[in-house]
Amino acid sequence: MRFVIAMMKHESNTFSPVPTRLDRFGPDGAYFGEDCVEAFEGGNQAFSAYLDLAREEGAEFTTPVAATALPSGPVDAEAYEAMAGAILADVGKGCDALLLDLHGAMVSEAYDDGEGELLTRIREAAPGLPIAVALDLHTNLTEDMVANCTAMVGYKTYPHIDKYEVGAHAGRILLGALAGEVEPAMAWGNKPMLPHTLCMGTDEGPMKDLVDMARQAEETGEVLAATAFGGFPLADIHNAGASAVVVADGNVSVAEAVRDRLLDAAWERREAFVYHPEPLSDSIARAKALEEGPVLLIDHADNAASGGTQDTMAVVAEIMRQGLDDVAVAIVADPGAVSELIEAGVGAEKILPLGGKVSMPALGMQGRPHEVAGTVRVISNGEFTVTGPMNTGMKTTMGRSVMLDAGSIQFVVTERNIEPWDLGVFHNVGIDPTRKKYLVLKSRIHYRAAFMPIAKHVIECDGVGVTGSDYSMFKFEKLRRPIYPLDDMA
Ligand SMILES: [Zn+2]
Repeated sequence: MRFVIAMMKHESNTFSPVPTRLDRFGPDGAYFGEDCVEAFEGGNQAFSAYLDLAREEGAEFTTPVAATALPSGPVDAEAYEAMAGAILADVGKGCDALLLDLHGAMVSEAYDDGEGELLTRIREAAPGLPIAVALDLHTNLTEDMVANCTAMVGYKTYPHIDKYEVGAHAGRILLGALAGEVEPAMAWGNKPMLPHTLCMGTDEGPMKDLVDMARQAEETGEVLAATAFGGFPLADIHNAGASAVVVADGNVSVAEAVRDRLLDAAWERREAFVYHPEPLSDSIARAKALEEGPVLLIDHADNAASGGTQDTMAVVAEIMRQGLDDVAVAIVADPGAVSELIEAGVGAEKILPLGGKVSMPALGMQGRPHEVAGTVRVISNGEFTVTGPMNTGMKTTMGRSVMLDAGSIQFVVTERNIEPWDLGVFHNVGIDPTRKKYLVLKSRIHYRAAFMPIAKHVIECDGVGVTGSDYSMFKFEKLRRPIYPLDDMA
């Protein structure tokens, strides 16, 4: 048997000004060919699970592409064609199965439904080819995606720590189908609701209820796989929002029944999926009154792993205004500042406008730097291997990085975007996060995997950025309407 195994992942924020070229899809760009194996084997990606399954089966396999980028604006048209073209070329040589590790919320410059377009092209090129797809919990599901594959399973955790398990799950269903042991029959659907990302954590709340229901349908043997998606709301495309997909064995009406249960449960919980922020000054004042750290200050409106520029300074400015002490910030992406600070050298004292270099035209906002006076303490190449529970083992780079010490506040200043989902973002520049009173994290939920074990308190801070939770900031034109909570759905 011959398998094609590929990863092509991006969550596209159509409001983000951050460009998404091929070089964003890995430390040195996307991996192609045999390099994919070395990059991801032994990791906890769905792709890693597919490699293990192929070896267990004694199948030959090729890996045309393995590419994953932090969320940002729509994928550059050339990058999309390079990745999709590599997969199609390998499929075109003939294979018995295709195992895909996708995101489910990819928008390219040319296609609103990046995954639907890819799967449609593959189906046209290879009708009848068995195709397994692993998807992110933040998938914006479409008819083209479901109609053009054999079996589809999504993550059940946020932070996403079950990527490997989901790949293994999707892959095993496909192997069962190849062996004639099961006959996957899928049903999908959505509800007119646009849940807030901050309400999709799976440790508690409405998303946990949906995940528990999906697990139960799997564990009782009712269906082969059941997935509830929260969706990715910062995409102005028709199908953004909550959905579900279920894979039954042979009988599509069983899949439909479980799908309806999941979607009805999501709709019943629609109010619990709405996030209500408090004013930023109140959040920082609450933080100031706390005695024991680390206190996590979550700058969620500028989350790099949802498309944030990661250089807005509103939360930092308020922290400095209220005079908090013993603060570390991860991270401020500012390549110009990094160059300037590296040129100055370790020990140099600098006054510079930090952050605020990238404008956000979709929000009608200019970048606003914040003047900082500090000393360059550490210069690093920004490379580290993730040791925490999310993306364990993944080689990561922040680009050249600097620790700028402004006395009461220490900044990790980097060339590239990275969501602080691992303690490595601090360790890399010589900061021990367990010893700081306050940690500012430009993150929404993923920080929880590595930082909750060291945190005494968490305070969500409603700053500025293209990953904000105030939907009135965003101009939706293509999104299906009416939709809750944008429209009155009574
Ligand atoms: Zn996600």
